[in-house]
Amino acid sequence: LLPLGAIVAALMVGLVFWLSRRRLSPLGELSIAVQRREFIVHYQPLIEMKTGICVGAEALVRWRRPDGSLVRPDTFIPLAEESGLIQAITDQVIGGVIKDLGPVLVADRSLHIAINLSADDIKSGRVLPVIQAALANSGVLTEQIWLEATERGFMDVKSARATIEEARRLGHSVAIDDFGTGYSSLQYIQDLPLDALKIDKSFIDTVGLVSATSAVTPHIIDIAKSLNLYIVAEGIERQEQADYLLARGVQYGQGWLYSKALPAPEFIAFYNDSKRV
Ligand code: C2E
Ligand code: CA
Ligand code: CA
Ligand code: CA
Repeated sequence: LLPLGAIVAALMVGLVFWLSRRRLSPLGELSIAVQRREFIVHYQPLIEMKTGICVGAEALVRWRRPDGSLVRPDTFIPLAEESGLIQAITDQVIGGVIKDLGPVLVADRSLHIAINLSADDIKSGRVLPVIQAALANSGVLTEQIWLEATERGFMDVKSARATIEEARRLGHSVAIDDFGTGYSSLQYIQDLPLDALKIDKSFIDTVGLVSATSAVTPHIIDIAKSLNLYIVAEGIERQEQADYLLARGVQYGQGWLYSKALPAPEFIAFYNDSKRV
């Protein structure tokens, strides 16, 4: 007969094995991914429309699973935001940007990278010292890191104002992202000290088409101009859209017409090529 201790031990080993093989909940998987630092950054070139030169990029997070597959942010950012894991993911994005592009940013001071902040990041302002710590000793300037947040991030106007003012005091530029898709009241957009406005892809999609929203795009451009904001159009896929935006004085564009989001080495190659033309 086996001693009782051996039986209990065998059962425990079996239980641990069973638990480890069991499918984790989506939140469980995500929190393990955060612990294992499985988040990497791709870079979508930001183009100065007039010259076609790449003047920067937007940092877009991807979850690289251990099997090498990449998960797009739309599938995990909402869960990360609900659960509070987003802050740790933002931190990995910031670290990734400096590690991937630090030397390129030091070599070209006119290049900038835009980082997406969640509503939490804007509300708490916690992200600002994290960025400063990541920049320390990197040689990258605060001015080279732009921050973007959607209208949701600006709903709590008081805390948003405090974070934006501090961010700009440090040297960041701040953009309102996906403009026109949320519940933005023009009143608070007007009251916040923003630098740039990103026109959402849904409006760019309608350029050249006859649709209810195509009439809105010129008004968004006018709003940005009257508030003295830089304008970035996102999701440009057709030359016709670029021509339209350029004719109306939109300075910057992003979209598949120019490039998809690229892994860091490919982005660096794209940027070097764009300087040569
Ligand atoms: P977003 O900030 O509006 O980013 C633009 C999205 O549109 C990106 O999708 C980009 O790959 C895609 N896109 C750009 N140009 C085109 C185009 O010409 N055509 C089409 N069809 N799509 C285009 P992605 O990378 O899947 O990101 C989705 C969203 O996830 C982002 O929307 C942003 O809200 C969020 N996100 C991405 N990275 C981060 C991050 O580091 N932190 C936070 N909080 N959110 C992030
Ligand atoms: Ca964005
Ligand atoms: Ca956007
Ligand atoms: Ca968008």
